[in-house]
Amino acid sequence: MKGRRGFHFSLRWRFTIALAAVLLLIVSVIGAYILRSISDEQARKVESSLEQRGNLANLRVRQIYLSAGAYNGADTFLRRQGPELAADLSSLFDNSRVLLYGADGVQVGDSQPQSAGPDITDILPYAKRGKTVYETTGDSVVYMAPLVWSVGQVGIVQLQTSIRADNDFYASIQRSLRTIGGASLVLSFLLGFLYVSRVTRSLRRLRKAADDIRDGRFIKDPPVRRRDELGELSEGIAYMSREIEQSFARQKQFIGNISHEFKTPLTSIIAYADLLDMYRDDPSLLDEARTNIRKEADRLLDMIEKVLHLSAMEQYEFSLSAERVDASETLAEVCARMRGKAVQFGVAVQTDLLPAPVRADRESLTHIFMNMLDNAIKYNEPGGSVLVSCRSAGDRAVIVFRDTGIGIPEEARAKLFEPFFTVSKDRARLTGGTGLGLSLVKRLVELQGGTVAVAPSGAGERGTTFTVTFPLAPLKRLQS
Ligand code: ADP
Repeated sequence: MKGRRGFHFSLRWRFTIALAAVLLLIVSVIGAYILRSISDEQARKVESSLEQRGNLANLRVRQIYLSAGAYNGADTFLRRQGPELAADLSSLFDNSRVLLYGADGVQVGDSQPQSAGPDITDILPYAKRGKTVYETTGDSVVYMAPLVWSVGQVGIVQLQTSIRADNDFYASIQRSLRTIGGASLVLSFLLGFLYVSRVTRSLRRLRKAADDIRDGRFIKDPPVRRRDELGELSEGIAYMSREIEQSFARQKQFIGNISHEFKTPLTSIIAYADLLDMYRDDPSLLDEARTNIRKEADRLLDMIEKVLHLSAMEQYEFSLSAERVDASETLAEVCARMRGKAVQFGVAVQTDLLPAPVRADRESLTHIFMNMLDNAIKYNEPGGSVLVSCRSAGDRAVIVFRDTGIGIPEEARAKLFEPFFTVSKDRARLTGGTGLGLSLVKRLVELQGGTVAVAPSGAGERGTTFTVTFPLAPLKRLQS
């Protein structure tokens, strides 16, 4: 495939991976937050329940000490009563294991003396210094709190509790979150492939259409039909294709016409040259040849000038120097210049010119008016007339060429502004017409923001009226 470079990471994969990453991130963040909240809440509950038990143990031991009336020192009391006290506290706390220590950290009682207690080497030193500490190992929590009375620390109580239920709950939430994460990952891949595949399929079709157009295979219908931006792009591509195809066709036709139209006068000139070769001494032929060669050469020159003018407009940013021009003044000049031709054709030219300032290229304006008046005279009849009028109406300058000439059949009016179109080849040849004048006029008029239209002068097909309009120039600002 042409036009591809290096490694190609398709949109589908990019989108799918991005979607998966986003979903995974969201699930992870939410999951971490949920798990964190649960474990915080569990720890808080365990801590507060153990703290309560610790306080209770403290009170209980002290109460028994006081009620025993054994005032021979807390230390001795604990050492002697330790095992009993531990068993008593254990029965208070759902038979969970309770151990008692003296202030020096030596064990004095254990509610379950037959089994080895948990390892407390890490936390005992803290408890000895009067601190409450706890340590979690697996499913159980070991809690140590100092027994503090008014005389100071007299011992340490060690409590134990199981957090298996909490851990199970935490683990089940964790499992659920993993499942959700996995499911969303799978879902994002499915979505990515289903949705993005459709989009990329459209994109691939659009690219193929672009490749086709580049290779000269034009398309008529939009390659993709969707009600979104891709659909709009697709319609744009189809429109572009049709336009390029049409302009190619027009250009081809134009070139074909040029070659044909150039051949006719040249053939005629060459024929006269041959005749002159054969009948060197025929004075009447000499006269005829001179007139006709002159006429055909004029036609050729006119045609070349117009073709160049047209193609210049086609090729370059045709340079127009817009300036403020009074259309009526340009029209008066053009009429004066064409007076000779009007007399030659026996046509009377009348004018009705009111000022109409437009912003236009002066030379183009002259060109447009010359062509119009030339046609009105050429396609007229001896004794006929042309009325040229100019006025401003609303925000436009309206220029009308109304003739009493041979008229234009209705079916020909639509094609009138196409290059090389002539109503009658014979008449065109007779008058030296090329069929390029009106297409040039139309282009020039439109370049100045104007319009040109054709209509019969009256009822029936006798006489033709051309109406040209331009936007009026903005009013000149008054000097204050
Ligand atoms: P041409 O150089 O042949 O005059 P144009 O493009 O100016 O070329 O005109 C195209 C054709 O339109 C002419 O050949 C003629 O048949 C017809 N036409 C133009 N103007 C008039 C008019 N005022 N009256 C009748 N026919 C006209």
